[in-house]
Amino acid sequence: MKIQNRLRDRHGKPGRLLPAETRRKRHPQFQPFCFARVLPVFILFTFKLCVFPLFVFTLCVFPGHASQAGTQAPSRAEKPSASVVEIVEFEREGKSGVLAGRVLVEAQDGGILLEGEDGQLWPLLSEQVISRRKGERPFRRLGSEELARKLQEELPPGFAVKKTAHYLIVYQTNEAYASWCGWLFERLYTAFINFWKRRGLPVQAPEYPLVAIVFANRSNFQVFAREEAGQAAATIIGYYHLEKNRMVLYDITETATWARPSTGSKRTLSEINRIFLHPEAHRTVATIIHEATHQLCFNCGLLRRFSDCPLWLSEGIAIYFETPDLQSTSGWRGVGELNSVRLADFRQYLATRPEESLKSLIATEDRFRDPRQAQAAYAEAWALTYFLIRRYPERFNEYLRLIGQKPLMIWDDESTRIKDFQEAFGPDLDRLDEEFLRYMERLK
Ligand SMILES: [Zn+2]
Repeated sequence: MKIQNRLRDRHGKPGRLLPAETRRKRHPQFQPFCFARVLPVFILFTFKLCVFPLFVFTLCVFPGHASQAGTQAPSRAEKPSASVVEIVEFEREGKSGVLAGRVLVEAQDGGILLEGEDGQLWPLLSEQVISRRKGERPFRRLGSEELARKLQEELPPGFAVKKTAHYLIVYQTNEAYASWCGWLFERLYTAFINFWKRRGLPVQAPEYPLVAIVFANRSNFQVFAREEAGQAAATIIGYYHLEKNRMVLYDITETATWARPSTGSKRTLSEINRIFLHPEAHRTVATIIHEATHQLCFNCGLLRRFSDCPLWLSEGIAIYFETPDLQSTSGWRGVGELNSVRLADFRQYLATRPEESLKSLIATEDRFRDPRQAQAAYAEAWALTYFLIRRYPERFNEYLRLIGQKPLMIWDDESTRIKDFQEAFGPDLDRLDEEFLRYMERLK
């Protein structure tokens, strides 16, 4: 395990104190977005375009990796919940401002991880912190009305707000589409919570309203997303932003080739649902659910933002949930259904799958970052999750508990990743791999 002593800047450039090896390593967690890709006309590209790391690394603030000086005292400290709000003046990449929040982690050199009262996490380098002082009131999380107002101020004019039990949908499109999003997300929410509760994992209600920003059309979305996602904005239909803890989407029915000609604001919720029942819409809905599942994982106590979470696990779970179920109005039967697209990808990969495949999947994120390997990495992440949840549910829970309790801003090395995995699933990875392959072979 390495201990972080310095935060990285936006481009992942490490501080001078970091050793060369650390400079090369970039943390997977900061693909806050699993950019999922799907343009209806490019359905076949859906997974090939899932190579977000290439651009994610350019837009996200990276927490740094540890100094390798293992003999030094830990140079960061995770702080208990502060009761008094802290006022932090900052300057980052030419932008300055004042934040009200609580410091979750403090590095020895003055870098901090701040939780804003809107739920956004701010990793700030010491030189980006201009001043810090205690406020005169307790730290408090914004409620949905305050959060909605804040988002409306931040966004271009014309956004309305739809509140559901757990979501805050800030939308620029017609109300029916916002309602459809809310309906879809709430059903996923119920399915997600029930799924883990039935398996004995302590999931909980989110501390903040779950935010989704829905643009009216593709071009408005792209203008906005370019700021956060760079060039990837041109090829994606939505993303979950880990740092800002929100989804960003657009009204797909306005431009999708499979949707009927737009009737704009006259559309009803049931008409929109009918549009999404079109077979060609299937992968698009799956993508939206995939991103929403990421958000749920990081807000319901399953995983922690800004802690070490192996990418295969977070992606495996998101894909495990992504099977849409729009037919049923009373429940969600699709969770954990066999994902035929990913299974086909996995089987194709088997022809060239190296012996060390399992190990490389659980220990690093390299394969997800390599455009030539990403599609197979996603498929294997799903396959492994599918196998482990079904074959070893208790051990999978144990592993999830371990990962969900990882400390903030500490990034495990490869050997720790493997050791954690072995602790839950047993030391003999070769035997597990054989069983895994046999299990996947039998699936139809
Ligand atoms: Zn993802």
